[in-house]
Amino acid sequence: MKFGTKAIHAGIDPDPSTGAIMTPIYQTSTYVQEAPGINKGYEYARTKNPTRTVLETNLAALENGKHCISYASGLAAMDAILKLYKPGDEIIATNDLYGGSYRLLTKIFGLVGLKGTFVNMTDASELTSAITENTKLIWVETPTNPMLSIVDIQAISEIAHSKGVKVCVDNTFSSPYLQTPLDLGADIVMHSATKYINGHSDVINGCVITNDDTVADRLRFIQNAAGAVPGPMDCFLVLRGIKTLHLRVERSCQNAEKIASFLKDHPAVSKVYYPGFKDHPNHDIAAKQMRMFGGMVSFDLHANSFETTEKVLSNTHLFSLAESLGGVESLIGHPATMTHASIPKEDRLKVGLTDSLIRLSIGVEDVEDLIEDLRMALAMVDA
Ligand SMILES: *Cc1c(COP(=O)(O)O)cnc(C)c1O
Repeated sequence: MKFGTKAIHAGIDPDPSTGAIMTPIYQTSTYVQEAPGINKGYEYARTKNPTRTVLETNLAALENGKHCISYASGLAAMDAILKLYKPGDEIIATNDLYGGSYRLLTKIFGLVGLKGTFVNMTDASELTSAITENTKLIWVETPTNPMLSIVDIQAISEIAHSKGVKVCVDNTFSSPYLQTPLDLGADIVMHSATKYINGHSDVINGCVITNDDTVADRLRFIQNAAGAVPGPMDCFLVLRGIKTLHLRVERSCQNAEKIASFLKDHPAVSKVYYPGFKDHPNHDIAAKQMRMFGGMVSFDLHANSFETTEKVLSNTHLFSLAESLGGVESLIGHPATMTHASIPKEDRLKVGLTDSLIRLSIGVEDVEDLIEDLRMALAMVDA
């Protein structure tokens, strides 16, 4: 089955009790047992819920994986993965990691003895020298946020596996429509389903997909023991969002390409970060591992000041100033004061994250209107 067909059909059968074509919201905490130890496969809803089971089956199919475990948020999914490890173990992660992932790894798991090391993985060879005998997991984000660098998942997986180390890819920025890391050699994939997978900015949700039976069994054990489960209503909403995932992501990518070109030619713009450009330093890897180049575009202004940047940020009308990404509506963000405010300025500047960097999450509106919105806001800078 191809992607769009899987999005709509994988794991989804009419409800056995009524024939309802849409997966019902099984809003229940427990299930009546016929006799002690005899049940229909469901005993208590922390352990299992039918709405969640359907979502997990569908997501596993989209990532070409065998197992999926769904969580209350993307960070709850990461938290469960990190609980696979023990004090003294080392995790090597991409250096411009999502801020919340960095915080969880260093400020929570760091306190109980997990060591996080941060490496620029766009040069796969830098990874080789960072791996030690205690390294257990490589944590990859690609495209990275907000600089939109691309990490070669296949090359990283080959290096990691040659040293007996597993690889997890945070696939949030691509969605399974653009990239399926398990096919490129990764062992584990995680998502903040809050973003593209749900796509309607109305749910917080996460998931982990793997082909590794041992990892999946342990994750299910951790989920039941620790309890980071999503509610059935949220599972329903994510399932509903997935039905148009391929259409939404395709349109976002098409819009992003046109907006990136518009920005590149604009006199107020000094640099556009977009992996679809032939001169993007990792363009070839993006073309190799992604179906399209994604719906995110970052750009910098010649007037490298916060005051000027603020004029642009406060003068768009269709692009809303907000954190998050991957919804049907376009968002504009200022990484230096919003998503990446907790990173020290010198560290930010080293990767090009200046005070005038602007990040766009491109939605599925008509692109002419989006370009006009940006044209009007950027005119404030020229004046
Ligand atoms: C949002 C996000 C997360 C965290 O997910 P939540 O659903 O907000 O907990 C993790 N990784 C990336 C890349 C994200 O964008």
